[in-house]
Formats: sequence, structure tokens, C-alpha cells
Amino acid sequence: MPSAIFRTVAVIGAGPAGLIAALELGREGHRVVVYEREDNLGGTWLYSPQTETDPLGLDPTRVVVHSSVYASLRTNLPRELMGFRVYPFVPTEKPGRDPRRFPGHGEVLEYLRDFAEEFGLEEMIRYGREVWDVGMAADDRRWVVKSRRRDCGDGDGDNEVYDAVVVCSSHFSEPRVADVPGIDEWPGKQMHSHNYRVPDPFRDQVVVLIGSAASAEDISRDIARVAKEVHVASRSAPVDKIGKFSGHDNIWLHSVIKSVHRDGTVAFHDGDQTIADAILHCTGYKYFFPFLEKNNAVNVEDNRVGPLYQHVFPPTLAPWLSFVGLPWKVAPFPQFELQTKWIAGVLSGRITLESTEEMTADIEAFYSSLEAAGIPKRYTHRMEDSQYEYDDWLAAKSGSPPIEEWRKEMYVVTGRRRMNMPDTYRDEWEDEDLLSLAYQEFNLLKLSV
Ligand code: FAD
Repeated sequence: MPSAIFRTVAVIGAGPAGLIAALELGREGHRVVVYEREDNLGGTWLYSPQTETDPLGLDPTRVVVHSSVYASLRTNLPRELMGFRVYPFVPTEKPGRDPRRFPGHGEVLEYLRDFAEEFGLEEMIRYGREVWDVGMAADDRRWVVKSRRRDCGDGDGDNEVYDAVVVCSSHFSEPRVADVPGIDEWPGKQMHSHNYRVPDPFRDQVVVLIGSAASAEDISRDIARVAKEVHVASRSAPVDKIGKFSGHDNIWLHSVIKSVHRDGTVAFHDGDQTIADAILHCTGYKYFFPFLEKNNAVNVEDNRVGPLYQHVFPPTLAPWLSFVGLPWKVAPFPQFELQTKWIAGVLSGRITLESTEEMTADIEAFYSSLEAAGIPKRYTHRMEDSQYEYDDWLAAKSGSPPIEEWRKEMYVVTGRRRMNMPDTYRDEWEDEDLLSLAYQEFNLLKLSV
């Protein structure tokens, strides 16, 4: 095997993906600088009570608040499943910590801080530096990374040159809002869930939420504690579930909104209607990489980032540009770990990457398979059932053990319980057998270090 080559690598973002990228790249021997726009690590998990000036998050000139986390948020995955494999997310005896299996957001942030401390990652991070441009250097081989402090107007800021750039800036900050007929005339308040923090502003109001994913599920319940009525408009509402939420007096499930009107009426396709004070768009996010805008090798089209080989490498720029964390409906941290092991090993030459032609052919075959199955472009990075096949593929590439069976099963069990018992799944469970397998493995890991 040829001897390994060590590269200079810029990582964009110090959320979970950027932190594990720093660890894996550093372990491989690369020289790593992590650029982080905020003054702290944690990404999504760095809760801020501050919200954006445009509550819908559409104004391109708004000051961006990165985190979409709301005050009451508890994880929707159990901690055993959520943590990195190299550093299990187990309760600690440190004072003030949250030992619950589905802890609050603050516990995840503390875990990430512990992780960074354990592996000495802090010294690689440049805080308060926003990457605003990534372009080719004059030698057409390396990257110029341009960064600036966004709050002190230092103009174009610094330019630094790297062999490779790993994008870990995530896709939970650029809101996507629903198209609602009549919305321009509708007089009520509108907000995207990205800017939701606490229910108080909705006290005694009638609120309509659009969406059916995890945030709509949680926020509807959070708001219902103080609101007069909460109506959830969902594209995937089963007909037999339309009507009052079981166990709740003031939450109703509806089909999608048909139209909204000047007098405040919100009419649903199921024939029901209400006069509402506010509409909350829990409608997800767009992939957005403003620092790559001048680069034509990667584009975002109908929420497909492409072309990318296995959601990571653009064939014509591989391995010098890579993306971590694009797939959704996954257990993200362990997947980030496998993606970054692969990237680190390819950059050093330890792992052979397929040729540009092979990568391109693989992407074309993947896109054709989506089309043949009738899966829209915007679901290119949605994984759910296929995530562990993908993770195991990454594991094989990077010489890591495949994903443990208990994780695969725990993911399925948790998803089922979340759907059937949305009010209680975080505090009651019945997968003790899986839990015990997880802790057996965590204890073995502890003994081996
Ligand atoms: P992030 O955590 O978002 O971090 C990205 C970082 O990049 C940020 O720190 C940001 O400041 C920085 N950045 C962005 N652009 C730039 C730039 N130009 N220059 C410099 N820095 C930049 N996952 C779970 O596993 N369990 C859960 O229960 C769970 N709940 C969630 C709830 C909500 C409401 C949301 C939005 C997500 C949830 N997730 C959950 C998914 C969550 O996003 C991931 O857990 C994880 O935080 C993604 O990590 P990341 O590093 O890719 O992105």
C-alpha cells in the first residue's frame, strides 16, 4: 500500500458533523481547521432564545439564527441510538445533567462539549468565523476559503488555502414554507418553526400548524398547553384520524389547507374551517450552500444536492470537496461518523475512491432508480429504511464494523412507538432487551480504551 498522504482540510461548521469530521480527519493525520460562524460549538443543539427578524425566514438579508431548537425540545431518538459509536451518549454523574433516555436539548449540547473535550477538538475550531466563499486557488488544484466575522464588518476577512474542504453546515436553517392559496391577503401572523421557541405568544389564540413531521407533532402539543385551539393541517393525515387528537381537548387533525381568506378563515380540504390568529409552517428546510454559489460543480435543484456520489462526493471535484450529513430521516451522528471516516481515508490514500466515470455512472443509476420508483427529486436524500444499508456500505468502505443489530432494531421500535404513542414514547418503553445489548457494548468499549 502506498504511504499515506496528509492534507490540509477546512471543515465548515462545528455541529455534530463538523466535530466528528475533525476527529476522524485528525486521526488520519490531516491538518484540520474547523470554521464555525457562532461563538460556540454544537450547531443545532446550541439553543438560542433569539429568533430571526423575518419570522418566516424568507428575507435573504435577515440575520440568520442557526439553531431551530425550541425551549421544550427533547430528542426524538433515544440517547443510545443517537450518540457517536466512538463516544456513547450515556448519562453522566456530572451535576445539573439530564439523565433521561430522551433528554432535553441542553443535554445533547453538554454531550457534544464533553466529546470535544475528550478528543481535544476545541483547538481546531475557529469560532465566530463565517465561511462566505469557497473557490479554486490559482493553481486550480486547491481551495481558497474566505471567512469573516459576521458581526464586526471586517469586509472580505481572511483567505486561506486548503487541499480539501468538508462541508458540515447542515440543512436545518433555511426555511421552506407552504404554498397556501390566498395567503397574501390573510391578515394573521405567520411563522416558520425555525423561529418557534416558546408557546407564550400563542396564549388564548387559534393556531394552525402546517406539517406532520416531528416538529409539527411536538410544537402542536407545546402550543396546545396555552392556546385556545390548535389545528394541524397534514398532507399525510389518515382519513380515520381526522378530527380531535385522542387524549387532547383542543388539538384537531385536518387534511391540507384548501384556502385562506381576508376575514381570517382557514379552510381545509376535509371541509372543516376555522378563523385563526396564526399559521405556523412546520414544513422543513432547504439545502443551502451560499458559499458555493459560484461553483457550478454542485447544484441544489428541487432540494436535490447533486451530482453527489453516495451523498458525499461531487465526482468532478472528489475527493477535494465533500459533504457530510445530507441524508434525512436517519440516526445522524453514527452516519456522520462513517461518512467522515470514508472521507478521511480517501484523502490520505488509504481508501481507493472509484473513478470519476464510475461515480457518475453510479449517480445516474441511483437517479434512474428513484425515477422508476416514482420518488420525487426532493426525496433524493431521504433514507429511513435504506439508511442502514447505506451505513453498512460506508462501514465496509472505511474498514469499520457494520452497524450493530440492536441499533437497527431500536430505530424501528422507536419510530413505531413515536407514531402510535406520540405523547408517551419518550418516558415509557419496552425495548429493555435492546437497551441491555447497547450497554453491554458500551461497557466493552469503556474497557478497551
Ligand atoms: P448542525 O448541528 O446544524 O451544525 C452546523 C454548524 O455549521 C452550525 O454550528 C452553524 O453555525 C455552522 N455553519 C453553517 N454555515 C456556516 C458557514 N458559512 N460558516 C461557518 N459555520 C457555518 N437529530 C437527532 O439525532 N436526534 C434528535 O432528536 C433530533 N432532533 C432535531 C430537532 C430539530 C428541531 C432539528 C432541526 C434537528 C434535529 N435533529 C435531531 C437533527 C440535527 O440537526 C442533527 O442531530 C445534527 O445537529 C446535525 O448536525 P450538523 O453538524 O450536520 O448540523
